[in-house]
Amino acid sequence: MQNNILMILSPQVQLFLVIILALIMGSFASLFTHRLATKQSLVFTRSKCLKCNHHLHLKNLIPIFSWLIQKGKCSFCHTKISARYPLIELCFLVIFLGIYYVLDRQINSQTILYFAITTMLLCMIIVDLEHYFIPDLMQYILTIFVGLLVVFHNDSFSLLIAFRDGFAFTLFAIALWLFFYFGAGISAIGVDDLKFFFIAGILLGIKNFIAFMMICGLVGVCFGILWQKLMKDETFPFAPAMCISALVCLLFGQYLEISEWLGKLIFLS
Ligand SMILES: [Zn+2]
Repeated sequence: MQNNILMILSPQVQLFLVIILALIMGSFASLFTHRLATKQSLVFTRSKCLKCNHHLHLKNLIPIFSWLIQKGKCSFCHTKISARYPLIELCFLVIFLGIYYVLDRQINSQTILYFAITTMLLCMIIVDLEHYFIPDLMQYILTIFVGLLVVFHNDSFSLLIAFRDGFAFTLFAIALWLFFYFGAGISAIGVDDLKFFFIAGILLGIKNFIAFMMICGLVGVCFGILWQKLMKDETFPFAPAMCISALVCLLFGQYLEISEWLGKLIFLS
């Protein structure tokens, strides 16, 4: 499973494939998040301009480049096209390249699952930023990818431990909700977030519990303050903090096993 399944291809071709995959997934995420949040059919239908309803041609659908060439306007009715599309595609490109390099430039089943999990995390951030909720469908898809990763790529996988870790993370979410509620008078954590914490616990395990908690709390507080200042809204989306923390711990978890360091520190002293 761990072998590079595309090792017959040169590193340049592999890099090219990662770039193409990132742009395709970025483009898919733009469409998927918009249709899911606005309750439109997810069945593949031809993309069209939201203003003039003109069906888009292939040359209008090239990630990032079409938007740049058309100067951010529809090539039929010249209505401005939101910068969300190229920005989402650019985010996917940067993060997929980061994952590829962190995983030693190997394209194997683990890399593919990392890309899949990251795609769902980024989709959750987009929907929560734009619509203030995390769709259940995304949580279910994420659970499947996380399940595949921990079962096939964690040698010491045990269902009992996975559930213990899931519950530990959920308890933390409840503690965080109490902290925000009594500290700042805001209800920062919703039911959607509690479900996410359970999945994050299974994905990251108790060894990354403190790191996840610290990054999530830090990003949550900074983002919350920024959101309230810019958007003038007391409620702020919490998915960015949770998903960024989960992604950082997924990629760099082996360097962030703070509970083990603390254990060693106490033991040595
Ligand atoms: Zn148009």
